[in-house]
Amino acid sequence: MAKIPINMKSGEVEKSEVIIGIDLGTTNSLVSIVEDGKARVIKDDDGQTALVPSIVHFNEENKIIVGHLAKKLLSTHPERTIYSAKRLMGKSYKDLANYTSLLGYEIIDEEDKLVKVKVGQEFHTPVNLSAEILKYLKARIEKVLNKNISKAVITVPAYFNDAQRQATRDAGKLAGLEVLRIINEPTAASLAYGFGKKEEPSKTIAVYDLGGGTFDISILKLDNGVFDVLSTNGDTFLGGDDFDRVIMDHWVNQSQLSTEDLNTNKSLAQSIRLQAEMAKVHLSDNDIFESKDRSFQISKEEFHQLSKPIVEKTIDICKSAVKDAELELSDIDEVILVGGSTRMPLVKKMVSNYFGKTANDALNPDEVVAQGAAIQADILAGNTTGYLLLDVTPLSLGIETMGGLMDVIIPRNSKVPSSAGRSYTTSVDGQSKLKVSIFQGERDLVEHNRKLGEFVLSNIPPMPAGIPKIEVHFIIDADGILKVRAMEKRSETQTEITITSQYGISEEEMGRMLVDSLKHAEQDMKTKALLEAQNEAKSIIHSGHKFIKQNEAILSQEETNELITLINDLEHAVKDKTKDNIQLAMKILNDFSAPLAERAMNYNIKQALSGKKVGE
Ligand code: ADP
Ligand code: MG
Repeated sequence: MAKIPINMKSGEVEKSEVIIGIDLGTTNSLVSIVEDGKARVIKDDDGQTALVPSIVHFNEENKIIVGHLAKKLLSTHPERTIYSAKRLMGKSYKDLANYTSLLGYEIIDEEDKLVKVKVGQEFHTPVNLSAEILKYLKARIEKVLNKNISKAVITVPAYFNDAQRQATRDAGKLAGLEVLRIINEPTAASLAYGFGKKEEPSKTIAVYDLGGGTFDISILKLDNGVFDVLSTNGDTFLGGDDFDRVIMDHWVNQSQLSTEDLNTNKSLAQSIRLQAEMAKVHLSDNDIFESKDRSFQISKEEFHQLSKPIVEKTIDICKSAVKDAELELSDIDEVILVGGSTRMPLVKKMVSNYFGKTANDALNPDEVVAQGAAIQADILAGNTTGYLLLDVTPLSLGIETMGGLMDVIIPRNSKVPSSAGRSYTTSVDGQSKLKVSIFQGERDLVEHNRKLGEFVLSNIPPMPAGIPKIEVHFIIDADGILKVRAMEKRSETQTEITITSQYGISEEEMGRMLVDSLKHAEQDMKTKALLEAQNEAKSIIHSGHKFIKQNEAILSQEETNELITLINDLEHAVKDKTKDNIQLAMKILNDFSAPLAERAMNYNIKQALSGKKVGE
């Protein structure tokens, strides 16, 4: 097993300890554990269902109700009943611009900040809401096992970015769970199917996941126990809800009802929607559906006609994913079906047709992700063996850029081994040296993060600012050793440093750094915005002066004077340290200089062309 970098708990986990696996879904969530070598999902008290609707209701006294009971309250108290909180994780109001009107509840508009949901006079973050669902799952399993649980593995979609993963981890922490790993849903599903064992020949797997309101396709390559996501694609508004809707529309068309009636009578609309979902589920195993009062019917044949275009959309997305992965269909060894909506026979048929092989649905499609999470948890607990234990970077790694900003190169939770690079340039004409300082942590300013080392890339040949192309590359090998390499591409000047000391960080220290990064997030964001504006302004001032010098021939005296004045204004604004003033001064300067720059460019092109003609 690879040496465990920095913090990893896995070595410290006690053998008998129970670590749970959680599928925190948009529509439904589940909890699972491995018992006697087999993953099992934990059912409700009544032993009926393992799925917990991912819905949180706050009643008038602010009592919190989660799951099936909350779902029942969705039609009567939409403004107090929050569903799909997962869609809001790690998002700002701006990110959700097109989406907020679709929700039944209120979202707070605070630019730049992470979204909050307003219920009565209270505000709830998506992290809080997810934490309520996690608490519910934790309580459920504690009751069944009759012991306290404190550690978990939680799954997230493969496309989740670092902010969304971090939000998920924080939700776990709030629910009283130490989140040992965040793993990708398709990876979990593949684990549940037993793929990814050590020493297995390499294999390419397509994981087709059609849930309640989202569709994801991921193409994974499993090689010697390492899961590589070759491509991922999807639609965050395509899923089971769409099938319910086509049935609803079909019934409305057939009856005397109008869309207008449904808009005015919300509870009628809700009850027809529920009937439609029942019909859909019924038709997965039967040929005809009729509502109890016999007012609505639909046959399997009719339903297939209506749902075909929806499934076709998912197939088109699969095509893109296969293309992005740079594969031929014949390169794909396995197709597995995940998500409740893949229970529809039409889905299985169309997916199998497209991939040219029978899609695998041997395991319960709405339980596989939770089962995979439980298997990963059991691997961490040291029970399940035969799989490689993948390590991840627990904190982000990056370098200092202008103004003391942290520029992340390898985000936290990246798989180890891992490598990533980014290009930089110089900020001063003729700069011959570049200091590369390496930091670890989540804060926006390096001064709050932990310094791991630094080196100087020297002998950069003199070039104007912005021309050198300096690539900084981070490589973490399987033993968790970080190598940082910087290279000036035009001259191939190169320097490298190996850092091993980063692994001295203690669990407490890491916890504190994470808590700090949350606590200071707002202040950091402001400081970062100011620094970014200042940096941008400085480079504009620099190019402004250069522009005047280079274009004396085409600028009138007034234009030059005005440019100098505006550049001075901008310099003052930078000294003033007010982001808005800097941005305003930049805008004024920009508006004034844009036509001049265009004129200069045309002039220079003409010069160049005529010069070329002469030369020929
Ligand atoms: P998510 O991953 O988005 O949380 P799930 O994987 O639990 O969601 O899928 C929920 C969706 O699956 C719902 O739209 C539900 O109606 C649908 N579903 C569940 N069972 C069936 C079935 N037998 N036939 C068709 N759709 C089903
Ligand atoms: Mg799911």
